Amino acid sequence: MNGTTTAASGETAAIETDVIIIGAGPIGLFAVFELGLLDLKCHLVDILDRAGGQCTELYPEKPIYDIPGIPVLTGQELTDRLLQQIKPFHAQFHFGEMASGLTRLDDGRWQLATDAGTKLTAPVLVIAAGGGSFVPKRPPVPGIEAYEGKSVFYAVRRMEAFRGKDILIAGGGDSALDWTLNLAPIAKSLTLVHHRDGFRAATHSVNRMRELVNEGKIAFHVASVKALHGTDGALDSVTLAGADKKEWRHQANAFLPFFGLTIKLGPIADFGLNLHENLIPVDTAKFESPTPGIFAIGDINTYPGKLKLILSGFHEAALMAQAAFHVCRPNEKLRFQYTTSSSSLQKKLGVA
Ligand SMILES: Cc1cc2nc3c(=O)[nH]c(=O)nc-3n(C[C@H](O)[C@H](O)[C@H](O)COP(=O)(O)OP(=O)(O)OC[C@H]3O[C@@H](n4cnc5c(N)ncnc54)[C@H](O)[C@@H]3O)c2cc1C
Repeated sequence: MNGTTTAASGETAAIETDVIIIGAGPIGLFAVFELGLLDLKCHLVDILDRAGGQCTELYPEKPIYDIPGIPVLTGQELTDRLLQQIKPFHAQFHFGEMASGLTRLDDGRWQLATDAGTKLTAPVLVIAAGGGSFVPKRPPVPGIEAYEGKSVFYAVRRMEAFRGKDILIAGGGDSALDWTLNLAPIAKSLTLVHHRDGFRAATHSVNRMRELVNEGKIAFHVASVKALHGTDGALDSVTLAGADKKEWRHQANAFLPFFGLTIKLGPIADFGLNLHENLIPVDTAKFESPTPGIFAIGDINTYPGKLKLILSGFHEAALMAQAAFHVCRPNEKLRFQYTTSSSSLQKKLGVA
């Protein structure tokens, strides 16, 4: 396959960079820092709509006690600090995109394709995909697949797409409540359903939702969705069932179920990386997979003695970056330097 993809040929032009990173969890983020110190530019792809991986998705408010030098900080705080730390390196994020296809080009570089049509080309691919991609849990409604991406959505990528719609939201967590509050002002009508009159979401969101219900701006029912009705993926109504099992038709042309996320390895399993129990084997000098140019760091890799800890991933990122430099710049020498004493590193960090 040839590496030159151009807009003129009708295909989306591939973005060229030094390093493609799959996963914007803590380890993918710190990899940007280590690679940035070596002048290597990064593009990151993450299926989530924000950085932080497990830290922000699974335990944003839980304290972490084993980050060296920081006695305690939450998952969200760690992510915020990593984002601040990598700011000087201007990494490009492709959020809400699943890394779905990998090709080796004739010139030896890697081309990664995402499910949103983005193509990224680089000599180095770093897989920092943790336990895999977070995928939304599908509600048990028969035939829902036919509506997905057309009138049933598990995430809101563009709020404007929902303007003037009869929106039905299902769920009782933060996503369901946040989107209820955010979409209410632009919806034609908005109804929230949850199987009980109790919520896991932040109290202030629940209180605000109840205010909107009292003001008659939105509706809330203790109910679950039993069936979808429409044609060619375009929803026109749903069957709801109340706590007393009584069913009724409800008019809706957009349905947003927020039933949480599960982790699946997903397309990385098909990248030909000789996985061991869904993990990528690496050497411990470079954290490179058996496929040259593909590195794996953080929870996704395996080697003797591996500990799935953030601090282990940080170490792996540092060693990976040194090796990745030689792949990206085969004719250049790499000089080991400390950030405390190197004025050139300090310049890159914007502190000199
Ligand atoms: C409840 C809990 C508490 C924890 N407490 C601690 C602790 O105190 N200390 C500690 O050191 N560790 C702790 N951990 C473990 C720690 O969170 C992980 O080691 C760390 O998150 C691994 O980081 P990572 O960047 O490798 O992967 P992740 O954080 O899993 O991030 C991987 C990212 O890759 C994305 N991704 C995967 N596949 C794809 C794809 N195909 N396309 C696009 N995106 C993709 C995912 O969406 C995700 O955002 C805890 C974990 C949990 C669940």
